[in-house]
Amino acid sequence: MSYLAPAGTPVSLGDIALAVAANEADARALLAESLRGISGLPVAFPVSSGRAAMTLILQAMRNATQGVARDEVIVPAYTCYSVPAAIERAGLKPRLCDVDPMTLGMDPSALARCDFSRVLAVVSANLYGLPNELAVIESVCRDHDVLMLDDAAQALGAKLRGRSIGAFGDAGLYSFDKGKIISTIQGGAIVARQGLLASSLESVFAELPTAGLADKAGNLAKLLIYSICLRPQLYDLIRRVPFTGLGHTIYEPRYPVTRLAKFQAALAAAQLKRLGELNAGRRRNAMALQEAISDLPGVTLVATVPGAEPVFARFPIRIHDARRRVRLLAAFDRAGIGASASYPAPLADVPQVAISLPPADRKCPGSREIAATIVTLPTHAYCPPDLPARVRAVIRGCPA
Ligand SMILES: *Cc1c(COP(=O)(O)O)cnc(C)c1O
Repeated sequence: MSYLAPAGTPVSLGDIALAVAANEADARALLAESLRGISGLPVAFPVSSGRAAMTLILQAMRNATQGVARDEVIVPAYTCYSVPAAIERAGLKPRLCDVDPMTLGMDPSALARCDFSRVLAVVSANLYGLPNELAVIESVCRDHDVLMLDDAAQALGAKLRGRSIGAFGDAGLYSFDKGKIISTIQGGAIVARQGLLASSLESVFAELPTAGLADKAGNLAKLLIYSICLRPQLYDLIRRVPFTGLGHTIYEPRYPVTRLAKFQAALAAAQLKRLGELNAGRRRNAMALQEAISDLPGVTLVATVPGAEPVFARFPIRIHDARRRVRLLAAFDRAGIGASASYPAPLADVPQVAISLPPADRKCPGSREIAATIVTLPTHAYCPPDLPARVRAVIRGCPA
């Protein structure tokens, strides 16, 4: 059966071969230059993953504000579980700010009400490539004299009022993992503006080890499989193989924190040359889905914030009737459409996060509502032209 992956980006075997051959060149420097161009920020470092980028940024933030007793990081209560894992890894504690179900971004008024007395930094999310209210979050951070980390793991190439996502606040990160805007299987990057934080990052990066041989070999092997199996004709096979970990959301604070391997840096740089084209295709696919289903009862579209240019790593919708949502996810699966229920719970319900939370942070009604209603649809380059019509038919075939 043909099955559309929930997210991903085509990587050709030719791209991989060229990247491996380019191993000798200064691939990381070229990638960094390209990321400076995209983000508009003067500092960029490719690293082993988005979560490694987050760990390093948070450690640098702590170093840059030494002497101040600040060990808390405010994150959206609905985001990737790697975010609190990276906070733990950096020796800090997560605090939660509720998320607005209408925009899937942190509710700026809820953020403004937080107790900032021990807060080191605030982290954005920009889930599915949809920009958050970053200018407002930035000004709340400035008012409270805390740092801001713009998490653009899913939003590489997105903008808000002409400014790149990842470039708000003091530092940002991108991810090149499997379901992100570009993919090197694992990988990521730090971007930052000039200043104390950047100097601290420079010294951390100078000491950062290179990737281990086993990690490099593993990532190369997985890349070859990914390259072949993201195609709808083969994805159905690979998604059944348990060791791929496809579609799972786990809390795991142990992972390599190293430089990005050279062949992965070369592969990322090659994909970045096509970033505009890749994201324009995702945006077209998202608009076609929106057009096809916006009139269907019981389906809510997510509002983009004013001035946003989203990149739609996925196309999120919300289905209010919980039982209908479960039936609908099963119907999409049977139809070979990789619709996803996204993160299954708000961070407040992840046991490793819950243990250190103050009681007030556990409520997060908006984030609970998102976890109970969200469905994401694929937008990647393997989506066929009839996908919007098929999605519409599946939804209509699953009435409330
Ligand atoms: C994927 C993701 C991360 C972590 O990136 P990895 O490269 O998977 O470590 C962080 N934040 C968000 C919002 C993500 O989606």
